[in-house]
Amino acid sequence: MIHQKQLESAALAAEVEKFLAKGGKVKQIVNEPVKVKHGTSDQYKKRSCRCEKCMAWALKTGVIKTTKLKGTKA
Ligand SMILES: [Zn+2]
Repeated sequence: MIHQKQLESAALAAEVEKFLAKGGKVKQIVNEPVKVKHGTSDQYKKRSCRCEKCMAWALKTGVIKTTKLKGTKA
C-alpha cells in the first residue's frame, strides 16, 4: 500500500514538473465560493444581479432611475 502511494505521488510530482516546465501555473483548488464584487457593471448587467449594492450602483450610474418596479402602486 505504501509502495503504491509513493509511486502515485512520484508520478504526480513528475506531472507537475512537466507542467511547470511548460510555463503553466498550478491552479489552487479553492473550496470557498468565489467572492463576487457587487456594485459593478459586470455584476449588474452580465450577471443580472439585483442585490442592494448592485441596485445602488445602477442608480448611481443612471442605468435605472428608481429601484421601484414600474406598474406597482405603493
Ligand atoms: Zn449584486
